[in-house]
Amino acid sequence: MKALRCRECGETYPPARRAICEECFGPLDVVYNYEGLSLDRESFRGRRKSLWRYIDLLPIEDPSNIIELNAGFTPLHNSKRLAEALGLKNLYIKDDTVNPTYSFKDRPAAVAVSKALEFNIKVVGCPSTGNLAAATAAHAAKAGLPCYIIVPYDIEPLKVVQASMYGAEIVKVKGTYDDANRLAAQASEEYGWAFVNIDLRPYYVEGSKTLAFEVCEQLDWEPPDHVIVPMASGALLCAIYRGFKELSGLGLTPRCRIKITGVQPEGCAPIVKAYNSKDSYVMPMDKPDTIAKSLAIGDPGDGIYALKSIRESSGTAVSVSDKEIVEGIKLLARKEGIFAEPAGGATIAALRKLADSGLISRDEHVTCYVTGNGLKTVEALEGSLPYLPVIEPKLEALRRLLEVTA
Ligand SMILES: *Cc1c(COP(=O)(O)O)cnc(C)c1O
Ligand SMILES: [Zn+2]
Repeated sequence: MKALRCRECGETYPPARRAICEECFGPLDVVYNYEGLSLDRESFRGRRKSLWRYIDLLPIEDPSNIIELNAGFTPLHNSKRLAEALGLKNLYIKDDTVNPTYSFKDRPAAVAVSKALEFNIKVVGCPSTGNLAAATAAHAAKAGLPCYIIVPYDIEPLKVVQASMYGAEIVKVKGTYDDANRLAAQASEEYGWAFVNIDLRPYYVEGSKTLAFEVCEQLDWEPPDHVIVPMASGALLCAIYRGFKELSGLGLTPRCRIKITGVQPEGCAPIVKAYNSKDSYVMPMDKPDTIAKSLAIGDPGDGIYALKSIRESSGTAVSVSDKEIVEGIKLLARKEGIFAEPAGGATIAALRKLADSGLISRDEHVTCYVTGNGLKTVEALEGSLPYLPVIEPKLEALRRLLEVTA
């Protein structure tokens, strides 16, 4: 790692615990020492089967600081049955439901908590829409660091249970994610805690780039034409886009011409609204209302950069209703055997919309990012579950039941 650089004014800083430019308050990005790297496709053979196989392109200096829970290196499925249902030919699902804490957030959390060790930070934490809570708490547990988590009171109960089992202190606030985020920024000042997605954000976001690296490697270094990504703050989308560009910049893949499409739920779609009205700013919204709670960020920190990435890549932005999200969850589960949370259902719902409207062509090679596991969000399916009568354990009763349901 060479430095941190301001995304807005270009000012550079030594790599330290810093997330914002002193000159213009712009966000800072990690800059790497590419000249000192000698990487080719063969370099990755036989490496760890986790995101740490890409350590040369991650902001950790000393490998002994790595917290390894085996985040990443998740399956990329060639999804033929779903492709057929949607009239597509080349469809892949990147299945991040099977990470150590069951969402893609294990990637940024692994990098941020490892970086906290490198900076000799004593307490970590995060404000979270749900999934980051468990991811940070689990990695903090493995690192032996205390962890403080601030969440909106109405997130899925299992996500709170999970984070608290890893030993994190959990604070529920009467308010939205944006309220939790503001409180976290104040608590970081007051107590010196390092919130991974605030204080360590430049390092944190780097973890998600590996979602692009893995897809390229799994496709034998031939990137897809089009990828579909759910958006909350927009950080994930920006990181995936950067990842594809970084690999092509290093000559590991052909020239980057990937289209990246972002998805939000209708009840919280400030980035999609800005895209549709051709704005270059994102108007925050007050009260997100959607079953996709992990996507419920009304004031997306990386919104304008997500917009930029989408436009630069000639992708698009799509919003989907809660009903379409549930249908997306069911479709993915029934066709491919993957049970996703609403964020994943949103990706599939958007894919379906784009395929139906011809915005994705039959021959296009598409990869969908499915970022979280459905077991954590069963309440989202309330009202959509089949009624299951209980019968006598007798063949006659079974026969009657089958006649009724036929
Ligand atoms: C956090 C999250 C996202 C979106 O991440 P951002 O970087 O905030 O855009 C998508 N899917 C799931 C399951 C998440 O938990
Ligand atoms: Zn700046």
